[in-house]
Amino acid sequence: AAKAAGKGTFRFFEPEMHEAARERQLMESDLRVALEKGQLRVVFQPSVDASSEAVTGFEALIRWDHPEHGPVSPALFIPLAEEIGLINEIGEWVLRTACAEAVKWPQQVSVAVNLSPVQFKAHALPSTVRSVLSDVGLAAKRLELEITEGVLLSNDEHVHDMIDSLKKIGVKLALDDFGTGYSSLSYLLRVPFDKIKIDQSFVRGASDPESRNAALIRAMVGLASDLQMQTTAEGVETQDELLLVRNLGCSLVQGYIFGKPMPADEALELAAKASPVKPDGFTRARE
Ligand code: C2E
Ligand code: MG
Ligand code: MG
Ligand code: MG
Repeated sequence: AAKAAGKGTFRFFEPEMHEAARERQLMESDLRVALEKGQLRVVFQPSVDASSEAVTGFEALIRWDHPEHGPVSPALFIPLAEEIGLINEIGEWVLRTACAEAVKWPQQVSVAVNLSPVQFKAHALPSTVRSVLSDVGLAAKRLELEITEGVLLSNDEHVHDMIDSLKKIGVKLALDDFGTGYSSLSYLLRVPFDKIKIDQSFVRGASDPESRNAALIRAMVGLASDLQMQTTAEGVETQDELLLVRNLGCSLVQGYIFGKPMPADEALELAAKASPVKPDGFTRARE
């Protein structure tokens, strides 16, 4: 269509393309500077037990406040960091920062860190995780690593070796954004995840009787519980959504209804209030 419209169309698009490329280049160098100058931050979003509403953990989420452009979404700059080879460094910084906060929290409160597929391919990952844990003095079982299906797409030996090595360290593994990818269920659920996180696209509108999302969530929870995996409902915003995911048997809930991602000092305050899990808490959560 552009060609049919004649040469002028190209001239019209050209400056925009240059602009996009230029902006990207600026963004690249700015991201390096941000990492060096400490302009990146980590915020923490609580996860709560669906029945007792006690805080069970926090997910670490990276933030970048660009000095001129303001906040840049991680959905934008993480892929950029992957492309320009900065993700391993950024990822290790997030891991260390998050674990260093978690040691200040009560022992039953865990920390979750997102891993990029690129980090997952790095052979050094298990030794990085081990040294971060020992440097900051955090028990391995209090760290949960979140991976997406993208990590598992290359069905090769390396992926399985990596999962084995991480499990041997004693960290927990969660499958993030469950249900949004293209992997087969049987393949996904052969990986020994401790938890699956049901993507917020299923939660949104699930309380609408017309929606089929409730049936989908019910099926996911059933599968997970048969496989001894916990389930987190992501992105729960309303009371209706909360009641629904609770009734559908999700063990944990994360979303604006219980707290937006918050700075470390606020997370510490909230974590300190977290009452110890009741003795029957774990069994109930898995029913
Ligand atoms: P994610 O890991 O699935 O994180 C959940 C996202 O949903 C977060 O967005 C969070 O702020 C948002 N969220 C939580 N509750 C609600 C809610 O009730 N409603 C709505 N509308 N949104 C909610 P955020 O922080 O912008 O992060 C986006 C994605 O960027 C993350 O998705 C994750 O894939 C990636 N990401 C963030 N931090 C890191 C990091 O340190 N490393 C890596 N590799 N990826 C990261
Ligand atoms: Mg996540
Ligand atoms: Mg998610
Ligand atoms: Mg996501």
